[in-house]
Amino acid sequence: MSERVINFNPGPATLPLPVLKTAQEELLNYHGEGMSILEMSHRSKTFDALVQEAEERIRRIMNFPDTYQVLFLQGGATAQFAAVPLNLSQEGKVGEYVNTGAWATKAIKEAQKLDKPYRVVASSEEDGFRSIPTDFKVGEDAAYLHITSNNTIYGTQWPEYPQTGDVPLVADMSSDLYCRRFNPEQFGLIYAGAQKNAGPSGVTIVIVRKDLLERSPANIPTILNYKLFAEKHSLYNTPNCFGIYMVNLVMKWIEDEGGIDVIEQRNRKKAELLYNVLDSSDFYRPHASKPFRSLMNVTWRLPSEELEKTFVAEAAAQGLVGLKGHRSVGGIRASIYNAMTVEGVERLTEFMKSFEQRYG
Ligand SMILES: *Cc1c(COP(=O)(O)O)cnc(C)c1O
Repeated sequence: MSERVINFNPGPATLPLPVLKTAQEELLNYHGEGMSILEMSHRSKTFDALVQEAEERIRRIMNFPDTYQVLFLQGGATAQFAAVPLNLSQEGKVGEYVNTGAWATKAIKEAQKLDKPYRVVASSEEDGFRSIPTDFKVGEDAAYLHITSNNTIYGTQWPEYPQTGDVPLVADMSSDLYCRRFNPEQFGLIYAGAQKNAGPSGVTIVIVRKDLLERSPANIPTILNYKLFAEKHSLYNTPNCFGIYMVNLVMKWIEDEGGIDVIEQRNRKKAELLYNVLDSSDFYRPHASKPFRSLMNVTWRLPSEELEKTFVAEAAAQGLVGLKGHRSVGGIRASIYNAMTVEGVERLTEFMKSFEQRYG
């Protein structure tokens, strides 16, 4: 295929075109250094400046005060499932979790495997993870409360984050980091594998309140030690240099577009376009319950699996790719991350209407 498709993949996912173009232009010769960023020492001044720039942008876009530290780590969000209990557990306290689906469950399993005290305070398993539990209390003995801000597989998202008082709120924001404005100071720690909404795979963004770094014990694996990576400004060992470079370009793109409010407005518009089609049809059946619908992953079923297959195939033939739902939910999932354009979503809604006319 010679033209770029409209890419609804859940992750790795579509990236902003200007970001890809800049990366292409700079690939052979980064800022007149005569070498690619792929070939450069991570101990060079140039790379150090790049890491700082990326950090500052991440802080600036959401107004994180300098009581927070940005880290670039490896191992994906999956490594963070272990890093959180290893770093944040406290003597006599319990790591608390809200189970909103497969990724949350995996986070819980890591705490369990590591033999750290944990408890599941609420779960939406009973309704097939169509919703987010809102009726629960944070324990006085909680070391932290862990949530998954957006459930990539089911298409649910926390409409508002829980108030946790003095207990640090920890969020896996892998699939919705910087899709909308939030109050940064509500969080103790945020982490996100970059490959959905913030860059390529292989780099994980962690934003952590500095006082929590004091909790990191010395006897945990070096590669998962937040305190150490904070002291070394993410450069304890060789980082994913190219990944950090790409994250910086994506963050620059957010700023160039006009910042987080512009991005949020656009995301709300895209989601509304899709949900409007779903709501005005008996043919399409949305999966997530209304108050918890995601801005990033829109999930729905068709009357039969046969029709779902036809939908995915016909859409792909028109250049609308990556729409097959996760096997645990089935049906269709449109991932409409920051880099997806309004026009891309409009192409999809037009296709949906015509498909319903032909098969409904
Ligand atoms: C994709 C995803 C993960 C897994 O991320 P990896 O970087 O592959 O480890 C974890 N949590 C959420 C919410 C995700 O969407």
